[in-house]
Amino acid sequence: QTAVKADITAYKGVWVFMEVIEDKGVCKIRPVGYELLTKGRELANTLGEELCAVVIGSDMQSGFAEISSYGADKIYSVNAPGYKDYNTDAYASAMINLINKYKPSIVLYPSTFIGRDLSPRVAAEIHVGLTADCTGLSVNADRNLVQTRPAFGGNIMADILTPNHRPQMATVRPNVMKKEILKPGFSAAVIEESIAINPKAARVKILNKHIDDVHGMEKLDEAEVIISGGRGVKDSNGFTMLKDLANELGGAVGASRAAVDMGFVPKEKQVGQSGVTVRPKLYVACGISGAVQHIVGMDGSDTIIAVNKDPRAPIFNVCKFGIVGDASQILPKVIEEVKKS
Ligand code: FAD
Repeated sequence: QTAVKADITAYKGVWVFMEVIEDKGVCKIRPVGYELLTKGRELANTLGEELCAVVIGSDMQSGFAEISSYGADKIYSVNAPGYKDYNTDAYASAMINLINKYKPSIVLYPSTFIGRDLSPRVAAEIHVGLTADCTGLSVNADRNLVQTRPAFGGNIMADILTPNHRPQMATVRPNVMKKEILKPGFSAAVIEESIAINPKAARVKILNKHIDDVHGMEKLDEAEVIISGGRGVKDSNGFTMLKDLANELGGAVGASRAAVDMGFVPKEKQVGQSGVTVRPKLYVACGISGAVQHIVGMDGSDTIIAVNKDPRAPIFNVCKFGIVGDASQILPKVIEEVKKS
């Protein structure tokens, strides 16, 4: 489709699409939204524009105080029972409606399953570009959004501009931007928007929901404890041990690319430059050498523990605690001790 050149001066405001997730029956804002608000605040300050959060989903009032504290000036709330579960057509239509009405200059989405599904549909419908999986965002001297992302399999970092169109839209990977409470106690203005769902336009009906408790990237990128394995874990039996330890500590299993390539675990478990970026409280790296492409995906972790039989492995340069030894002998002892405590 040919993009329509917009009157870009009419577009103002930095928007963040706040994804709502259900956790044990309770709806809450997905934490990546707060990371995007913190970055959005910086962009809005540079541009001298407002920072607005968009919340689609029923009964999310309880999350508004937190959204305000992360720096939003305004909250656009689309709140009706039909929006309770994510529905591509309904959510895309709500976003398009809001964008056409209020004309923001920038719209940011999380690079999650929902963000990756929603944003391209919105972009195609309103004929603007979309930069997926950004790891950096800034504003240049011409007031355009510089969208930085890995390209060519992660071999270069590309700066992408969409200067002639508005809004400029990007998805951003979870855990690459820091979140920071910027306005404690602040109450953002809430604008309730009633956007009716056209039942004919919403082609998908949710009949039943099964929430997978353990697997997948979604769990990994929010886990507070990650037990990760590399080629040194040797096989999928070794990963069963990592899973046992992760279960004991209420965490998730991660992996290096070598472990994924060898078929020990699915690709969604890959941590690193071409996988998921994580920032847990505890990251345990077993049989992982510490290649730079792995390190960039986990060095924001609070505490890193490495288990490796090679004392010269580069992972020991980034860990807080290191154990030199064979993971297949050390892990059973650790699991036994954790079970006792
Ligand atoms: P190895 O480098 O083979 O290391 C295995 C380690 O296990 C060694 O240090 C060894 O001493 C130790 N070991 C062996 N046996 C034992 C034992 N019994 N007990 C304890 N320790 C043992 N990699 C990623 O992880 N994530 C990415 O997203 C990623 N993206 C990439 C993107 C590009 C463009 C490129 C070029 C590469 C990328 N890589 C990525 C690959 C990366 O360069 C490394 O090849 C990979 O991380 C190595 O994985 P590994 O540490 O498991 O394996």
